[in-house]
Amino acid sequence: MNERAFVDRLTCVLCPVGCELEIGRDAAGELRVEGHQCDKGVPFALEEILRPKRNLATSVPVRGTAAKMVSVRLSAPVPREMLFPVLAEIAKLRPEAPVRRGQVLLADVLGTGADVIATRHQGADSEERPSGARRSDSEPRS
Ligand code: SF4
Repeated sequence: MNERAFVDRLTCVLCPVGCELEIGRDAAGELRVEGHQCDKGVPFALEEILRPKRNLATSVPVRGTAAKMVSVRLSAPVPREMLFPVLAEIAKLRPEAPVRRGQVLLADVLGTGADVIATRHQGADSEERPSGARRSDSEPRS
């Protein structure tokens, strides 16, 4: 990176090519990106430098069941500094069984615009599993 102040180096994860990106500042103080093989690399690098976002996945207990959990994730990535506050909100969730796959358990968590959604079905203990539904990890094997 000639005549540019080095800022950071990172790997683009948007496709399997995995370009090694180098970010620097030119003489005018503008951020410049090198090493990308397509147009997606520049906005990816700038977002990672200026406004990094992450998604997260975890699981929460389901009420009306004997210690069953349901896996959840965010509908969209949130600013990295919001991950722990968002996780704390998710930890308070105790959805009532049955929980449907894709069900919004918490909308617009902390004003981030992202919803917390269930990623699998979790029925009540007495409920028969819908045809095609997979066994939950928290269910005892018979
Ligand atoms: S810059 Fe383009 S080609 Fe390179 S890893 Fe990112 S998406 Fe793939």
